[in-house]
Amino acid sequence: MDAPTAGIALIVVQFCIALVMAGVYLTARDEKCTRYWSMAAVMLAIGVFCAILNKRAYHPATVIFSAGAIMTGLVLQWHGIKAFYKQRISWTSWLLVAAILIAMSIGLLLGANLLHRFSIALPLLMIGEIGSLLALWRGQGGLPRTFVQTLAPAALIILLLNNAIRIVLYSLHFSGVLQIQDYATLETFSTLIAPIAGVLLYSIGLLLLYFERMIEENHHLATHDELSRLLNRRAIDANGERELALANRLKRDLAIAFVDIDKFKHFNDQFGHASGDIVITDVATILRETCRSIDLVGRYGGEEFLLVLPGVGHEDAETVGQRLVDAMHRYRFLGIHPVTISVGLAILPANACSWDQLIRRADAALYEAKSLGRNRYCV
Ligand code: GH3
Ligand code: MG
Ligand code: MG
Repeated sequence: MDAPTAGIALIVVQFCIALVMAGVYLTARDEKCTRYWSMAAVMLAIGVFCAILNKRAYHPATVIFSAGAIMTGLVLQWHGIKAFYKQRISWTSWLLVAAILIAMSIGLLLGANLLHRFSIALPLLMIGEIGSLLALWRGQGGLPRTFVQTLAPAALIILLLNNAIRIVLYSLHFSGVLQIQDYATLETFSTLIAPIAGVLLYSIGLLLLYFERMIEENHHLATHDELSRLLNRRAIDANGERELALANRLKRDLAIAFVDIDKFKHFNDQFGHASGDIVITDVATILRETCRSIDLVGRYGGEEFLLVLPGVGHEDAETVGQRLVDAMHRYRFLGIHPVTISVGLAILPANACSWDQLIRRADAALYEAKSLGRNRYCV
């Protein structure tokens, strides 16, 4: 492929990326990252177009404009990553655009040749890319763990290495070490083919990160209760049934517990619904902290919670029930008002049972705890 064809391919790729990013932005305008990435692709396409134009008919203004446009594109990409990870976007990164415009102008005024121009522009462009890489690193909290998390940084490293190779390549060429024929092929590869691959992988990597997070957020919304941040009824039922099937099959112990806040209606009437909401959240936190990490804790509805306790048999159930009631004894709403709970525990019988049967048993135990005067547990 000759340089102009590869250049046009790179421009087409950038415009396609701009179109896709703009489309994604228009469907979810709250997420500003795709708007940045779309604008970045347009600026990069303009920058490459000017660079090709400049090869045909050299003009200092086109050189400066091309470098400025590419740097603007890189800064916008960087800001897009910061917006994606909710990091603070600082205006100081725009200094890189100012730096490249000033450095290129001074260089051209002093009669810089092609090698000098690349020696000025490429390190500055690499700083922009390193900025994006660091923002990705910070956003992901260190080394990538999944393929999706790896793709964007890996592509960025390809682009960075390619720029470093270009600096070496130009130096070798201008010092006469490389023959002109090798140079032409290498130049097409390093200025156009490698960037096309890098840019494509990078943009797809960013989009995959974006969609991965969207899927995770939707999954979390579908399985968690907004107020208490515990599993919602659907999720605790589904997970509980899975635990029960496992316990039935492997003949393992399993218990479930219904937890209900006592006289909560009075509490709401006395202190207001908003205070009631705070108590629900606090009780949720206490339950989560009192349970083991393998236990499942969910909000079943209103002021009722359901716990799924794998490995808990007859003796342990009593301990768990007492521990839950005791944990609530230490709690005071606003530091003064005590809140109590009643707990109904059901243990998986030796001859197995269904999820509905287990739930009915726990409900019956809770009813018993209520009728015995509340603030207690029943198995
Ligand atoms: P008991 O000891 O028998 O459980 O009495 P109770 O008052 O706790 O039970 P009841 O079922 O009569 O009332 C439950 C109350 O819980 C009624 C409802 O207003 C309140 N409630 C349910 N969901 C929420 C919520 O999300 N926030 C608040 N603040 N209150 C809620
Ligand atoms: Mg209640
Ligand atoms: Mg209730």
